[in-house]
Amino acid sequence: MSKFLVTGGGGFIGANFVRLALTEGWGAILNLDKVTYACHPGTLAMLEQLPNYQFVQGDVGDRPLVQELLQTFQPDAVIHFAAESHVDRSINSPQDFIQTNVVGTANLLEEVKTYWQQLPTGAQEQFRFIHISTDEVYGSLGPEDPPFREDTPYAPNSPYAASKAASDHLVRAYHHTYGLPTLTTNCSNNYGPYQFPEKLIPLMICQALAGQPLPIYGDGQNVRDWLYVEDHCRAVYTVWQKGQVGETYNIGGNCEKPNLEVVQTLCDLLQTLVPRSDLNYRSLITFVSDRPGHDRRYAIDAGKIQRELGWQPQETFSTGLEKTVQWYLAHQDWVEAARTADYRAWLTTNYGSL
Ligand code: NAD
Repeated sequence: MSKFLVTGGGGFIGANFVRLALTEGWGAILNLDKVTYACHPGTLAMLEQLPNYQFVQGDVGDRPLVQELLQTFQPDAVIHFAAESHVDRSINSPQDFIQTNVVGTANLLEEVKTYWQQLPTGAQEQFRFIHISTDEVYGSLGPEDPPFREDTPYAPNSPYAASKAASDHLVRAYHHTYGLPTLTTNCSNNYGPYQFPEKLIPLMICQALAGQPLPIYGDGQNVRDWLYVEDHCRAVYTVWQKGQVGETYNIGGNCEKPNLEVVQTLCDLLQTLVPRSDLNYRSLITFVSDRPGHDRRYAIDAGKIQRELGWQPQETFSTGLEKTVQWYLAHQDWVEAARTADYRAWLTTNYGSL
């Protein structure tokens, strides 16, 4: 059975990856997660029920810990999801992003390189370091620009995007300089179960269900590409199975939408699934001051992974969104536990008193 050391497996995408890996028998998992605000206790509790799963609370930048875990677990691959991941928080506290995303990744790479160099020849050839990154490293597109390709020049605009770009460059350098068998994936906006309600879709679901305002930055016409999280996880697994060492792969849902349209679609879905005679969900939409430096448009050309590795998304935006809303409706206890006093304070800091 393959063994994966997953970092950040208590977060949104990492947890979905771990759950799929263990339910579909992709391999055994050791999850190394610091348990920041983004790691929900209910998510960790769900993972604990799964077979072939171990969890260690710790920092990817803690070199002695990482060294010990690599030596004792002897993984066939390290899949690096752990990051500070929210653009808005990176605007207020960029140092946290530099520490985890840049310094943490650099420390992890150094320990993984040492581990990999000590493996016997056959195991060394099989080993992979898979780095999970974002389309935000490519910067902002104009309305007529072609979508991002793997050879689009990097132009990160937010502290989050800059920290992820730096980590991508470190991964590239460890392949080029030391021969470490790395693969990097750059994915568009994910949505689905277990996403902390600070990102657009779960924030809007949770606010709407509570009958509270739905804050939309600026004119709501910023465009993102949307991908259901399980499709992303299956793409990562495909990259592990078939990806060419040293390559990068863009992953996207071929689903560009302005934020306002996403929220209106969500309101209409809620109107059908959870009708309230006293409330039209669309009436909760509230425009707020734009995010500083807000990128206007991201779009992904996922042709390379489709052509070369045969991956395709399974969900449409409509089917993925309905699954997502149904999950949040069925997990109201998870939602309530996420809406802590710290979380409510953060909402006010970010959006003002709504
Ligand atoms: P998340 O914020 O939901 O989860 C991050 C997880 O990493 C949390 O469990 C947190 O506790 C853990 N973590 C943070 N700092 C750590 C550290 N120093 N050591 C160990 N663990 C630490 O993030 P996500 O949305 O699941 O994103 C996962 C990865 O995918 C990130 O690298 C992100 O940049 C990338 N990505 C996310 C999206 C998206 O739409 N969410 C899109 C493209 C790429």
